[in-house]
Amino acid sequence: MNTDLDFLCVGAHADDVELGMGGTVAKLVRLGKRGAILDLSDASMGTRGTVEERTREALEAARILGVPRSNLGFRDGFLDSRDPALRTRLTEYVRRVRPAVVFTHPLRDRHPDHEQTAQLVRDMTFLSGLAKYPSDEVAFRPSRVFHWMGARDGDPDFCVDVSQDWETRQKAIAAFGSQFGAEGPTTPLSGQSFRDFLEARGRFLGSRIRAKMAEGFYCDELPEIFDPTTLCKGDF
Ligand SMILES: [Zn+2]
Repeated sequence: MNTDLDFLCVGAHADDVELGMGGTVAKLVRLGKRGAILDLSDASMGTRGTVEERTREALEAARILGVPRSNLGFRDGFLDSRDPALRTRLTEYVRRVRPAVVFTHPLRDRHPDHEQTAQLVRDMTFLSGLAKYPSDEVAFRPSRVFHWMGARDGDPDFCVDVSQDWETRQKAIAAFGSQFGAEGPTTPLSGQSFRDFLEARGRFLGSRIRAKMAEGFYCDELPEIFDPTTLCKGDF
């Protein structure tokens, strides 16, 4: 398949990608893969931080992870997977950057924007492959959509060992100082208990694959093991 990007991560808000799969992004980049982050909303509903602050933080976090980042600027809190403008913009973006695979939110999550984003990505990564679907760009369909884990955890379909990349993930998350720092009103994300939860989940998922730290993902279609000789490595 002729692709320009190896992977694309689509999040509703700045910091969603880092919280969901920051370690996996860092690992993919470390292993030589080319990716990008696309945020859909302008982060204007956040309890903490201005839009400008959050934009600056998001660019710094992406720099730490080693990927470019764009923002479609749709209204935070009002993301709608049926919005024709949003559907067109995402289709055009996917057709332009041609990612082999796309990562996004789980279909079931606490924030409505996350669920809308997941459904939108599911819809548009399929429709973008239809030659007659209207757009100025040439039709293109990513081969798979993977969903990182959110606030409604079930059993993931697979895990990625991110032990070596956990520190980079932490640095990228710390770049969002307005969200996770000590300054400002208390939010569900700003306290030590949220940081403890992220650490505990990373460790627990790591234990599921006998690694120190891991991130988990869901997928509708089973991911194929392309090279079965990797099954014989004996270090699973
Ligand atoms: Zn979010």
